Amino acid sequence: MKQIAEYFGENVFNENVMKARLPKETFKAVKNTMDNGKRLDPSAAAVVANAMKEWAIEKGATHYTHWFQPMTGITAEKHDSFISPSQGGSVIMEFSGKELIQGEPDASSFPSGGLRATFEARGYTAWDPTSYAFIKDGVLCIPTAFCSYGGEALDKKTPLLRSMEAVNRQAMRILKLFGNEGVTSVKTTVGPEQEYFLVDKEDFDRRKDLIYTGRTLFGAMPPKGQELEDHYFGVIKPRVQAFMKDLNEELWKLGILAKTEHNEVAPAQHELAPIFATTNIAADHNQLTMEIMQKVAKKHGLVCLLHEKPFDGVNGSGKHNNWSISTNTGVNLLEPGDTPYENAQFLLFLCAVIKAVDEYQDLLRISVASAGNDHRLGANEAPPAVISVFLGQELTEILEAIEKDEPYGGKEKELMKVGVHVLPKFPKDTTDRNRTSPFAFTGNKFEFRMLGSSASVSGSNVVLNTVVAEELRQFADELENQSDFNGALHDLIQKVIKEHKRIIFNGNGYDDAWIAEAEKRGLSNLKTTPDALAHWLDEKNVSLFTSHKVFSEAEMRSRNEILFEAYEKLIKIEARTMVDMAYHDLLPSISKYVRCLDTDLTSDYEKNISSQLTELMNKAYGALTELELKIQKADETVDIPECAFVCKDDVIPAMAELRKYIDKAETLTASEYWAIPTYGELLFDVR
Ligand code: ADP
Ligand code: MG
Repeated sequence: MKQIAEYFGENVFNENVMKARLPKETFKAVKNTMDNGKRLDPSAAAVVANAMKEWAIEKGATHYTHWFQPMTGITAEKHDSFISPSQGGSVIMEFSGKELIQGEPDASSFPSGGLRATFEARGYTAWDPTSYAFIKDGVLCIPTAFCSYGGEALDKKTPLLRSMEAVNRQAMRILKLFGNEGVTSVKTTVGPEQEYFLVDKEDFDRRKDLIYTGRTLFGAMPPKGQELEDHYFGVIKPRVQAFMKDLNEELWKLGILAKTEHNEVAPAQHELAPIFATTNIAADHNQLTMEIMQKVAKKHGLVCLLHEKPFDGVNGSGKHNNWSISTNTGVNLLEPGDTPYENAQFLLFLCAVIKAVDEYQDLLRISVASAGNDHRLGANEAPPAVISVFLGQELTEILEAIEKDEPYGGKEKELMKVGVHVLPKFPKDTTDRNRTSPFAFTGNKFEFRMLGSSASVSGSNVVLNTVVAEELRQFADELENQSDFNGALHDLIQKVIKEHKRIIFNGNGYDDAWIAEAEKRGLSNLKTTPDALAHWLDEKNVSLFTSHKVFSEAEMRSRNEILFEAYEKLIKIEARTMVDMAYHDLLPSISKYVRCLDTDLTSDYEKNISSQLTELMNKAYGALTELELKIQKADETVDIPECAFVCKDDVIPAMAELRKYIDKAETLTASEYWAIPTYGELLFDVR
């Protein structure tokens, strides 16, 4: 059997492959492009393209594609074969530098939020040389950004790359102030922990709700859910183990550092975490991971559910976005150092994050907003919709000491003077206890825990990078050209702590008392996706993104429209699926069973159940009719944001009402009459 080290990254055109296959000069040029964002000249691109093609063909690839991430949330690819006609009716395999660098897919069928006028359907894809090309199913995939012909971003990668540039620009100014020699760039890093469910494919195929919407829209709780807490970290079942083994192998071949796997809290729920990587690569890898999870699951007769809330009554799935900033010399800027200077630098970056989260709570909330995630946030299983920062006791006490110019420490209390004193080290285990915080410092990184499981990590990291870049910009403006740098630094850090400590909360985020307290502190609480999206275009947000050149105002408008529309369309699909299932599957199930009972009402059981079910059918039918009216109302609401609010305020409550009666009826109906697999089957059939 092949060892992991032998096949790890075998399908990736990575640095080792490039080094081996490119002329020295070309390799150096590519490396310069990857590390410093220098443009690759066309002749070098042609050499790279040729080497890539040769390598891909040797590995059995016949096609290439520009692999990109449009606003649909999933990846897109259009395959072109390498063949090119040659004399005498034969073909040669060709792939030019131009084909590597730029593609021109028809953009007209991707969401553009009004950016792309219909007369200009073309868009273009541009190679991202910082993320390696790879082979997937016999196709050479080239990671690309996707823009309109006017240069506006139509995808998730473009703003992410721009936001990384923004952090780089501003962080370099700060690092210069601290005299960091040899640092030429900084990059943010991300390690996304991915939760998911596995269900049996035969069960899945019999549920229209799972097929059309990825979540169950009906279903009574089985006698057993997650109450025994016997699934979390439990022994992994053989079928799941076989799936995980295959999945790991596929991911490793693609150079994805899949590291940790375990069962999660809910039955049938699992988690996979990779080792962290540079943000844009982590984002690409997470998209690939989600795709490959679904593919590998099918091979095992399973379906991988990435929806945030596939089942009512048990936990949903999230994605923890572990985030930090590192220099090209390998220094993690969110790790306290050994010298007073390193510590002062750490405190300044820490303060940038604290201030950023406080000032842009709304943006972070918006970045995780989706119809699916609305079922989780604030639902006592995931962080609340209120954003706060967890720092742990030790760090909080240090900040308090600095704020008040008070001594800090155990026996030998010392006055904490920024830039003069050394901070204690914060071991991971003393900082990582709180699992209820939406945004937790975990020793050398922040863990943003509000993301939904199906989301691309790009959105949240675009926000995180940009808001931190903005604070670093303000800090650099203030600290540059100060004669007393240490004094100015101390004052700045003290001021930030004073003004933004309201965002720090180390208690239980699931507690209702916290929500009340958060309101007193003036923290924002945007409960649903439409509520959150309504703040995207607030003046402060537009000015943030435009000033750092991450989004133009037109791009922001388009994204707002795309997100509102995605919400509104999804809720309507869910509502129509419920109507379909109620008419075609579930009411007929109940009615058939009642008729069977009615032919021979001899026992109390039969009489009683029949009358209860008849009443439930009447109520369900009433609720169904009402739901149809609400769907009609939504359909008639032309304005997209307005329609999203109709979905939230009218359609969703009507869906809940219908579900209530049908779920109750399910508990009274004989199993053989129930048309669809039950929660019990979905959650426990995989053994
Ligand atoms: P937990 O479940 O306790 O949160 P895990 O070990 O499952 O911890 O996940 C932690 C994640 O954080 C991993 O993906 C890890 O690679 C990532 N991580 C560690 N250091 C950094 C860093 N400097 N930047 C970004 N992510 C990091
Ligand atoms: Mg975690």
